[in-house]
Amino acid sequence: MPQTHHHPDVERILLDEQQIREKVTELGEQIAADYADEPPILVGVLKGAVMVMADLARSIPLDVEMDWMAVSSYGSGTKSSGVVRILKDLSADIDGRRVLIVEDIIDSGLTLKWLLSNLRSRGPKSVEICTLLRKPEAARVEIDVKYVGFDIPNEFVIGYGLDFSEAYRNLPYVGVLKRSVYED
Ligand code: 5GP
Ligand code: MG
Ligand code: MG
Repeated sequence: MPQTHHHPDVERILLDEQQIREKVTELGEQIAADYADEPPILVGVLKGAVMVMADLARSIPLDVEMDWMAVSSYGSGTKSSGVVRILKDLSADIDGRRVLIVEDIIDSGLTLKWLLSNLRSRGPKSVEICTLLRKPEAARVEIDVKYVGFDIPNEFVIGYGLDFSEAYRNLPYVGVLKRSVYED
């Protein structure tokens, strides 16, 4: 294993590469079993879900398709606005398909709630959700998330796809960002 570099803006590493790899493999096995009869189309939510999508898709031994949506909910800050806008829509028609949304993190759940109703209006056979990370607030929203990697504390995390102002997405681990980076 390569030595994990610890970025100076990272307070502490929450999930290292090995923990993430093991969990994503486990999720992939569950999904493969659940969808053996009819493989899903994986819908990754850009840009945060790029890493989990790449690793998850490779751990599902079925003929899955991958498609992408980009929505904006956060701007460059650390709090959800609740206002969602489609920046890039799916290429595929999901009418009659089994859809599995692949997310990096669910915080307030506002983005996902909106995305679910948007995708459901397109007539898919089913829509389920897989998220690598879930924060405590998300448990209070009435969204049934079928696959959850890790429930994490209510801290702002970065890495493995997750950004702060577009930085840190390429860190191979999930870390807690130092407050001094985003507070005065
Ligand atoms: P929600 O609408 O559930 O509050 O937020 C969903 C989106 O907000 C996520 O897809 C992600 O882009 C962003 N987000 C929420 N919590 C965090 C966090 O701790 N770190 C980072 N980098 N982004 C977050
Ligand atoms: Mg996301
Ligand atoms: Mg972001």
